Amino acid sequence: MQKAILSFLFVASSVLAQTQPTSSTASEPTYIFCGSLFNSASGQLASRQLIEIREGKITGVRSAGQPLPSGTIDLQNETCLPGLIDTHTHVLLQGDITAEDYDKQLLKESIAYRAIQATQSAVRALNNGFTTIRDLETEGAGYADVDLRNAINRGIVPGPRMKVASRAMDVTGSYPLLGYAPEVQVPHGVELVDGPDNVRKAVREQLSYGADWIKVYVDRSYYVRQDGVLDDIPTFTPEELRAAVDETHRQRHKIAAHAMALQGVHNAVEAGVDSIEHGNYISDADLKTMAAKGIYYVPTIYVGEYVAEGRAKAGAPVWLQMLKIHEDTFRRALKAGVKIAFGTDVGGFDWKIDPAVEFPLMVKYGMTPLQALQSATKNAAELLNMSDQVGSIEAGKFADIVAIPGNPLEDVGALQKIDFVMKGGQIYKKP
Ligand SMILES: [Zn+2]
Repeated sequence: MQKAILSFLFVASSVLAQTQPTSSTASEPTYIFCGSLFNSASGQLASRQLIEIREGKITGVRSAGQPLPSGTIDLQNETCLPGLIDTHTHVLLQGDITAEDYDKQLLKESIAYRAIQATQSAVRALNNGFTTIRDLETEGAGYADVDLRNAINRGIVPGPRMKVASRAMDVTGSYPLLGYAPEVQVPHGVELVDGPDNVRKAVREQLSYGADWIKVYVDRSYYVRQDGVLDDIPTFTPEELRAAVDETHRQRHKIAAHAMALQGVHNAVEAGVDSIEHGNYISDADLKTMAAKGIYYVPTIYVGEYVAEGRAKAGAPVWLQMLKIHEDTFRRALKAGVKIAFGTDVGGFDWKIDPAVEFPLMVKYGMTPLQALQSATKNAAELLNMSDQVGSIEAGKFADIVAIPGNPLEDVGALQKIDFVMKGGQIYKKP
């Protein structure tokens, strides 16, 4: 017991030590010398590059001459990359393999306690090189993600740039907590809404309280049909989904759909959402529509592997069957030319696991290392409408820069070894 406590304290203190930001004075430029630098637009690596940074932004990138400006941060043995972007996280969730894990967090932990834990999740994201995240709902913790985003932006706590979805929504009877006696009032992981007018009202309410994104859960109760297709029960009606999409877009925001199987994906794609989350099964016809409409696919492969065994043991073997179906869908999506953005669902699995475990799985399922890397930089920035701020190392962008020893285009697993993290010109980790 005591040993466990000591090791926890050690981890906590080293995380804190690594997240004390350091930066030069505002007027003087900071320079980083990179042995190699990844250009996310061209997909090329350039050797011996010098990055100039002023007031949190990149002001120039050029071939390094000799001597280097005094005080240059020397990363000559490293590859510099734009800060990574995870477009599907849950900072307020700490793993939920089974319903018990989930119910416990909502029933026995206060939102205040969960928000404190979320600050630690944010530090972990930053420490792993994810300088921007899209956090896709708080799982019953209200608008705590809005507050965390604001606290990070105001410099109160360290963390990545956050785009947040706040409460998300689903229909009555579809989202945990479920299974309690009718006379017992229990919290739910989302805002429950029924009918197009109420959906529209919920979108308005969530945006007014600070949500950047809207999220809808469009299917549930998955089963594999005889012909191998993963089917579901769609939650919202097409009419309700159209109302959600219309109201979100009308207010110049974007909408993500948790959609894992045939009918949910189809309804969401037809309604015109901006991203399909998970997408374990997507029909060829819907992939074609996604490519035509520019709807992003955020596949979240690792979390499926993480929860499959546990959920199968708890009586739902479909989660094991879904892995193969997911791989097949991913390969068909690649072939169909659907835009794919990196997203992991971390929080659905333990935050102590580096979400970069997703990269080798994307390559295993058919991407090149370059495609996997672009999904977490260029593509993810596009999905978030942040291409003018993040996703590449070039003048005018935020100085969000990470580095690894090794070449990620040869070994994408090297992305789990990020040892330098800068966000907005401040260093949070260095080799
Ligand atoms: Zn999720």
